[in-house]
Amino acid sequence: MPRRQEQEPARSEVVEVAPGVLRMELPIALPGLGHVNCYALIDRRGAAVVDPGLPGPSTWRAFQDRLRRAGLAPKDVHTVLVTHSHPDHFGGAGRIAKESGARVVAHRAFTFGLPVPAPEVSVEDLAADSDADREREREAPPPPRVADGRTPWGGERPRPPWLTRMKWMLMRRLGAALVPTITHPVEHGDVLELAEREWFVVHTPGHTGDHFCLHDPESGVMLSGDHVLPSITPHISGISSSKDPLATFFYSLDRVAEIRGVKQVLPAHGHPFEDLRKRAEAIKRHHHERLEKLVSLGRELGPSPVRAFSEHLFAPRNWGAMADSETYAHLEHLRIAGRAERQIARDGTHVYTLG
Ligand SMILES: [Zn+2]
Ligand SMILES: [Zn+2]
Repeated sequence: MPRRQEQEPARSEVVEVAPGVLRMELPIALPGLGHVNCYALIDRRGAAVVDPGLPGPSTWRAFQDRLRRAGLAPKDVHTVLVTHSHPDHFGGAGRIAKESGARVVAHRAFTFGLPVPAPEVSVEDLAADSDADREREREAPPPPRVADGRTPWGGERPRPPWLTRMKWMLMRRLGAALVPTITHPVEHGDVLELAEREWFVVHTPGHTGDHFCLHDPESGVMLSGDHVLPSITPHISGISSSKDPLATFFYSLDRVAEIRGVKQVLPAHGHPFEDLRKRAEAIKRHHHERLEKLVSLGRELGPSPVRAFSEHLFAPRNWGAMADSETYAHLEHLRIAGRAERQIARDGTHVYTLG
């Protein structure tokens, strides 16, 4: 499979992608991703930056370099916006706020449960990785966090390799210190003055509960975060505050697709694109295909636990807790739609009957 645009390594050039909006690519090395787009919105006072990347010195160096290329320094940043509570989006925020005194804007539902539970992209999209990425991927992210060490659908959590466990232990220790203080919580419909014009907060739960996009009706620009990406689909976890995370995500896709006059979409990973409605529909279609595949699998397999569905839906190299979590989200969506039945065995294992 060819490399997707979201996997391209970060380039150092800074490009004005919309009036007063600069795209700065910061390096990240996460399964399925090679960079995060940090956007700088320029005004008379300096700049607001959206999604300033992972914590750590390499991001900070790249961030300073990109600002310098735009004739700016960290002290010029008066606002940091965080589209959602994933470390590749909020990680740089604390340091910037410390250096410049910038206010930090996030949705009021912003929360960061440790350890970081989910990968950024759909487990299926991980299949598009290069060999080097594949190596990283073998050190899969840790399984979803469940209090008693079991998943909500029953069955033990598989243990990730020791190196991953070490890394996440370290992250957990450092984690609390890296989560920025949100000085300016926002909610759906709020208006922010950025790049000398007004932007609307569009709450788009799904990928995370606190995800928001920013829409400027004047120039037709939408900052879409991870909600709508150009060629991959974001991870939708089965472990969520929503009973039906997939339905929540669909609702949020419709919410942005309905907005008229969007001419330019600026995603957090990958290149800018134009047709928001078409891309939102393609993402929905992808999930509907997965749902139909599960229904036909259900006919073949008969009553089965989540793991059995997951191991038929995904290639063996993607098996594991994350694949199970995505499968669980899809199975629950079918159940709530009345297309699947669920029995819970005495040991907690969920058994689904479909078709
Ligand atoms: Zn994300
Ligand atoms: Zn992301």
